[in-house]
Amino acid sequence: MNKKELEHFEKRLVEEREKLLHDMRSHEDAAGLTQRDASGDLSAYSFHMADLGTDANEREKRFHFASRDTRLLYHIDRALDRIHDGSYGRCESCGGDISPGRLEVVPHARLCSACKEKEEEAKP
Ligand SMILES: [Zn+2]
Repeated sequence: MNKKELEHFEKRLVEEREKLLHDMRSHEDAAGLTQRDASGDLSAYSFHMADLGTDANEREKRFHFASRDTRLLYHIDRALDRIHDGSYGRCESCGGDISPGRLEVVPHARLCSACKEKEEEAKP
């Protein structure tokens, strides 16, 4: 991969990272708001059990968002490390080149398409 391509993907990754951090902050804000509502009026607490159930589901969903975002952030950071140490674009499994088309869709990809498919198939 030449310098120009590396710069292109570095830019993509940095943009992706900023967008993700922004999303994570807005999820946190939403979660904080729910908590303040729940700890508010105690009578509302006991009379609206159905609403509380919905809140629990919402919190559950936000938790999943958060963990998915955290994982993605980790992968983006790892990809930026690889850009800096020169191993970016190389498959971590077979050592072959990851196609630029795949990196364009998934800039933080660490496996080539073939190895990724194998990994997916290996999952139960
Ligand atoms: Zn591979």
